[in-house]
Parts: sequence; C-alpha cells; structure tokens
Amino acid sequence: MKNVHLTLTSLAIMLISLFLLPHSSYAANGDVYDVGQAVLNVRSGPSLDSEIVGQLQVGDQLIEFNEQYGWVQTYFAGKEAWVAKHHLVPATQNKPVQVQVKKSSYEETKTPPAQPHPNTQANHNGSLYGYNIMLDPGHGGYDPGSIGISGIQEKFLTLETSKQIAENLRSAGANVLLTRSSDEYVSLHDRVEMSQAYSTHAFISVHYNAHPSSAAHGINTFYYSTSDQKLAESVHQSLTSSIPIRDRGMAPNNYYVLRNNTAPSILLELGFITNYSDFANIRSNPFQHQVASGITNGLKAYFSN
Ligand SMILES: [Zn+2]
Repeated sequence: MKNVHLTLTSLAIMLISLFLLPHSSYAANGDVYDVGQAVLNVRSGPSLDSEIVGQLQVGDQLIEFNEQYGWVQTYFAGKEAWVAKHHLVPATQNKPVQVQVKKSSYEETKTPPAQPHPNTQANHNGSLYGYNIMLDPGHGGYDPGSIGISGIQEKFLTLETSKQIAENLRSAGANVLLTRSSDEYVSLHDRVEMSQAYSTHAFISVHYNAHPSSAAHGINTFYYSTSDQKLAESVHQSLTSSIPIRDRGMAPNNYYVLRNNTAPSILLELGFITNYSDFANIRSNPFQHQVASGITNGLKAYFSN
C-alpha cells in the first residue's frame, strides 16, 4: 500500500477551495496523519452513526482539513469524509510536499516531450507509432472507486484492464504511459498534469460502473467538448463492436480529467460491476482482450482519419 502523494499545487487548490466553501469557519490546517490501526472506517459525517463510505489501512495517510468533535475531515473518493481522530497519529515523516507530480511513470515523461518516446520498445512499423497515449486507471490507493459483486473494488479492475490495453497499444507501436501502475492514490489534478506534460495525443480514463439496482448494465463513453467527440466516436464504435455488453451510448460529461485536459480525452465506463452478467464478462479473460483490441482499433481509426 503506497502513501498519499501530494503536490504543492493540489494542496494549494484544496486549501483555496476550502475558503470558497460555506464552512470556512473551521480551521484548515492541512496536517498529515498516518492511519494507526489495521482497518479504519471512513464515514460520511463526524459520528459513528454516519454511513461508512470506505476504509483506510495502516500505512495510509490522510490530510486533515477540519476537525470537529474528535473527528477529522478529509476527502475520500472525491467527497468530504470523516475519520475518528483517536485512530490517527501525526505522520512520522511528514511527506515533503512535492512540486513534481508523481514518481515512476511521470519521470519518464520529462525527457521526450512532443517526441516519440525513445525508451519504449516502440514498433516502428506499427500504425500507432509516434503517438503518445495516456491511460488513466480510475481510482487507486485509499479510493476504491465503486464496490461491486463479492465486494470487488473498481480500482483493481481499472488497473488490470489498463495494463492489458497498454500491452496492445505498445504492440501497435504507440508510446503508452499510465497515470498509475500500482494500487496508489493519484489525485485528479495530478492525472491531468501528467497528461499535459506528456504531450498526449489521446487520454483514456478507464472505469467500471456501479448502481444500487443490479439491473443496470452496459458501457458508456464520455467526452467533454466537441474537440473530444471524434476520439469518443472512434473508440466507442470499435469497443461496442468488440465486446458482448450492452451499448449505453456516448454522451458529453463534465468530468474533471476531461474538462481540464487539453489533449483529446475520453472516459470509459466499461460495464457495471453490480450487474451479474456484466460482471461475469468483465472478470473473463476474453473480455479484457476484447476491450484492449477494441480500444486499439478505435485509436487506429481515429489517427488514420
Ligand atoms: Zn470510477
């Protein structure tokens, strides 16, 4: 389990946004805490009666934005959330607030902006040669994303699928980076910043959907503006003809990673992990390969037009 990585800018944005909220009378101290017990419930409000919205584990860190009645307010899966303070210990090594976005994949991006990536095993004959594709496995770390059948967490599926997509894209000659390559938390801000630094030709955020009703099923492709629409159409068309899951259509949506991205960008919801039929498909090996080849073919079509 990795720790929370912060950037100076994201911290600043979070702090600034606090002053825009109506509850700015609370202190916004930004202290970092280590989770001091094996499993710690995260709740929607500062009381034991509040709904459990997720869990943190020992080794995780969180940032305090408010404190009330012995509870610490932080953000969990993008929403305000609370944990009991007596289970937290002040962070032993206060993480240096980093201006740099993230380790691993991001560092690679610094050397070759706007150029075909020299370090990948790029296939010079592949039809995606020279294109920089950024895959964005949704959620990660203390943000599990949706919870599906048998308690499966969306964050693991998005990573698994993204790795398969990356493999197919690389075989087709593309330069591929992932916004995360392990189970770690990466903020939405950092995901977009990585994309901007990479001179991305196409950004694809990978998600799985969930719904209180197990009847909901199918895949969606979302885009933000008309400049993303062509990418959405190419990928959606190719995907829906490759996988045996209901087509719920394409639609504009105001997602952060799309709205703030200057690269053509889309967000895929590749089925419902709360629906038995979708779930069985998603967990199958053929499905993962069909998704990867569907996206690869969609990108080939997109760049060849
Ligand atoms: Zn998601």
